[in-house]
Amino acid sequence: MKVSIIGTGYVGLVTGACLAEKGHQILCVDKDPTKVGKINQGISPIFEEGLEEILKKNIGKTLAATTDLRQAILESEITLIAVGTPFDGAQIDLTQVKEVSAQIGSVLKGKAGYHAVVVKSTVVPGTTDEVVLPILEEASRKKAGSVFGVGMNPEFLTEGQAVADFMNPDRIVLGANDEKCMLLLEQLYQAFDGTPKMKTNSKTAEMIKYASNAMLATQISFANEIGNLCSALGGVDIVDVMKGVHLSNYLRPTASDGCRIQAPISSFLEAGCGFGGSCLPKDVKALIAHGEKVGSPMPLLSAVVETNLRQPREVIRLLKKHMTTLKDVHIAILGLSFKPDTDDIRESPAIPIVKELLSQKAILKAHDPVANHEVRKLFPSHQLTLCETLEEAITSVDAVVLVTRWGQFEEVPELLARVNPQAIFVDGRRMLEKHRFVHYEGIGL
Ligand code: NAD
Repeated sequence: MKVSIIGTGYVGLVTGACLAEKGHQILCVDKDPTKVGKINQGISPIFEEGLEEILKKNIGKTLAATTDLRQAILESEITLIAVGTPFDGAQIDLTQVKEVSAQIGSVLKGKAGYHAVVVKSTVVPGTTDEVVLPILEEASRKKAGSVFGVGMNPEFLTEGQAVADFMNPDRIVLGANDEKCMLLLEQLYQAFDGTPKMKTNSKTAEMIKYASNAMLATQISFANEIGNLCSALGGVDIVDVMKGVHLSNYLRPTASDGCRIQAPISSFLEAGCGFGGSCLPKDVKALIAHGEKVGSPMPLLSAVVETNLRQPREVIRLLKKHMTTLKDVHIAILGLSFKPDTDDIRESPAIPIVKELLSQKAILKAHDPVANHEVRKLFPSHQLTLCETLEEAITSVDAVVLVTRWGQFEEVPELLARVNPQAIFVDGRRMLEKHRFVHYEGIGL
């Protein structure tokens, strides 16, 4: 199929590269010419395992990038909208979605033949039918349903494993309001034959995405709240508590061969310094705001957000157990991305932690295996020294704070024992064992 994808961020680019790999003809559109130039050279503008490999393999063959949205719409039969939908502090900001919808509509005005427009961005329930569809109709002067179709196909990929997730999805949710659009969506995902496909309307597809993310966020804040209670009580460690909780059949079911299988949801039930990223925080806040707007407040989810906002402060509290002031204290931050295997720092708990430590006049160094360049955009070098190596970061500091669960940090206990054994180690992810450090503090301990 000939497919155009508008927006070449994490979702648009991964979708484009993976669908090209599956044999479709893909035209990726972005308004940022630098991104487009890089993609056309086979260079990924973002760090994502395996992405550059499939970009290089398919670029110039089944995959191309352009800034020319008009040409891309004219040359394709289906368009996926994958632009950003940030939270503006009060509600979901649909500026990019609206802008792109108007642009697509004006091209459809002069295009013969059926064209499907499918929203892949995460948008609050009702957006595709009540915002995107009317804009398309107005700009194209055509009626949806016969000459063009409108649909919704949420994306569930996880940053850091986005290519693997897209290639082996757990589900594919297809929302469409007319048969032709649904048919095109089914063709688009034909190669994913072993994956459960749920066909529904656009509003349900939108809600499935939000309900999924809100459920994950709730697990994390739940574990953090229990962890904080453990800290307050003393003599009880969240790691042991969760070990016991995870032994339940709900989280570790028994397979037919008698083996216990760990449900992946378990990884969301660990205490830490909070969730971040471009999705969970903004999606939960957008859903709460949408609930308010339609007269259905969501107190549970509001508490999930509140707990998460407080969580980075736990790290500061743990540091302060060892020193009355953080002024002029040398501290190393390990991990800046919101999770391992990505350079995405959007809403990373590292950001409020760095800001708070700076406001208390600590002297900071940091190391992240891939996200240093992103952090430099937020903090100038006189505020935060970025270290190329782990060893450089943890040498000559009073304390080390682990924020991101990068696999590379497994070597911290040995390295710290060698170069700086007396440093206070604060484990913001409960990743490393207490007995391997001279001075250890951990969330929920
Ligand atoms: P992003 O901000 O990384 O990328 C958006 C891209 O759209 C940018 O490259 C931007 O230049 C481009 N763009 C904006 N306006 C444009 C226009 N008028 N014409 C052409 N290009 C334009 O966003 P993202 O992280 O890829 O997320 C996209 C959507 O997918 C969001 O709604 C997000 O919530 C959702 N989502 C994200 C993830 C994730 O892990 N990042 C996962 C699932 C769903």
